[in-house]
Amino acid sequence: MKYQSFLIKYAEIGTKGKNRYLFEDALIKQVKNALKHVDGSFNYEKEAGRIYVQALTDYDYDEVIEALGRVFGIAWICPVLQVADKDYENLKRTVVDYIREEYTDQNFTFKVDCRRADKKYPVHSEQVNRDLGEVILDEFPETRVDVHNPDVLLKVEIRKLVNIYSRMLPGPGGMPVGTNGKAMLLLSGGIDSPVAGYMIAKRGVKIDAVYFHAPPYTSDRAKQKVIDLAKLVARYSGPIPLHVVNFTDIQLYIYEQCPHEELTIIMRRYMMRIAETIAARNGALALVTGESIGQVASQTVQSLASTNEVCTMPVFRPLIAFDKQEIVDISEKIGTFETSIQPYEDCCTIFVAKHPVIKPNLGIIRRSEKKLAERIEELVQTALDTEEVIWCEADGN
Ligand code: ATP
Ligand code: MG
Repeated sequence: MKYQSFLIKYAEIGTKGKNRYLFEDALIKQVKNALKHVDGSFNYEKEAGRIYVQALTDYDYDEVIEALGRVFGIAWICPVLQVADKDYENLKRTVVDYIREEYTDQNFTFKVDCRRADKKYPVHSEQVNRDLGEVILDEFPETRVDVHNPDVLLKVEIRKLVNIYSRMLPGPGGMPVGTNGKAMLLLSGGIDSPVAGYMIAKRGVKIDAVYFHAPPYTSDRAKQKVIDLAKLVARYSGPIPLHVVNFTDIQLYIYEQCPHEELTIIMRRYMMRIAETIAARNGALALVTGESIGQVASQTVQSLASTNEVCTMPVFRPLIAFDKQEIVDISEKIGTFETSIQPYEDCCTIFVAKHPVIKPNLGIIRRSEKKLAERIEELVQTALDTEEVIWCEADGN
């Protein structure tokens, strides 16, 4: 069946009063963005707590469903037949045509569920249910009515147009990106941080990202991998400005001045400091990392406390209590896993000590950082001044 429209339902929670139109406008913006890469042209309409996407030209059904399936805030996607002619006899014929085209095998139980939002419509919804039920039973003798647990729930909504639909595909849930401020994601080339970015974007938060690059210790291909990951996350979050910070001189300086077993912790503290500065400059109110308790030496509770100490912004760690396998499952689901496991080194793997501290003592770490006093400010400033910003947008399907 060639539908010309999709009815988009969203969860009502948090969308009362003034919030509703902000929520709807953000949702429409994200839907438009998602359909930008789909062939075809579409019209968007709001009506009474729902959104309609209407195709103005030919389009690819699967592509549209796939694209809408990535828009946070959508609870259900309903391919819908919209009819302008509300004549009752015409409605009966249209419903029969709909069933015939939609279901090749009509051996199912069904229920008609009519909503009459247009109160001027001459037939009451109960009567519509009965009449349409009768017409369907007459036309398709294999069908049976089951009002409690039907195989097919046929919705007939009499509004400005008549909406006829019986399929509801689940959307990703969450809230439309743009309804909950902005956060700065520390994006590395690993499995975890893209998943963390996806999860925070799902709550409606716009994502910018920062990547600490350490050429020549990390290659251009490692950087390209991070760009590729940002583009994959952008399929859900919308375009991501990726701030690439050259971290080499800072890393080398820490390497020269500080005990090697503290290197990772001190390095991570500088990453957090720099990320926070970039976040503040770009209007982000929080940081996001892919950390998970105990995953590696730099993610013990003591290490997390130590890296957290340098930030005043909230640090969101959506994966904090996840097992690796749970994170891998999400990364496979959202399509970042294959890219994440490509074997390009990230800057942490080159400077890791054989025996990093796993329970860093804050006093000792602060004392070690004092050894950086001479040049660190200047190096941080240079890193900030020389950042490169790469606009990462989802590739076309
Ligand atoms: P991931 O799989 O996300 O790379 P990881 O298990 O390798 O994580 P770490 O290397 O300890 O863990 O990094 C923890 C978090 O710190 C990452 O999830 C990411 O948010 C951030 N991070 C680490 N390295 C970088 C980097 N080079 N640039 C930006 N952020 C980074
Ligand atoms: Mg990593």
